[in-house]
Formats: sequence, structure tokens, C-alpha cells
Amino acid sequence: MVSERKDDTDITEEDIGKIMTIIATDGYYKQAQIVKVVCPACAEEFLGTKCNAGRFIAGHRAFHDFENSFEDIIDSLGGV
Ligand SMILES: [Zn+2]
Repeated sequence: MVSERKDDTDITEEDIGKIMTIIATDGYYKQAQIVKVVCPACAEEFLGTKCNAGRFIAGHRAFHDFENSFEDIIDSLGGV
């Protein structure tokens, strides 16, 4: 079975769960499984390789942590 090759900008919902070669700007992802992840904090969705999904999750976690810590600081100062 020859695995599909796709440019990372051509990934669609139909590719979820498929294992294929992804040609991205940062290199080739061979045997890459396409996954979809949803941020539990803001419901933003990401479709792509696990590597990029991990970056998406880590990025959102950092961002929402930042937002929350900012709110905590405001609260500790007695609110706005
Ligand atoms: Zn988010």
C-alpha cells in the first residue's frame, strides 16, 4: 500500500485518522497520522499532524494560563 502524500495546507476533515506522508514547510512527516484536537478552554479546533497538534495544545495551554494568571493578578489587586 502506497501511503498518500499531502501538503500540510491540503489536509481536510476527511483525512482524520489517516496515516500519510505530510510535506510541511519544516520537513517531511512520514507515517504521520492526521488528528483533530479541540481546545477545552476556547473550543478552537486544530487539524493536522500530532506534532503540530501538540504545539497547538501547548500553545493554547500557555495562552489560557497566561489569561488566567492575569485575572488572578487583577483579583489580587482588588479588581478593576
Ligand atoms: Zn484555547
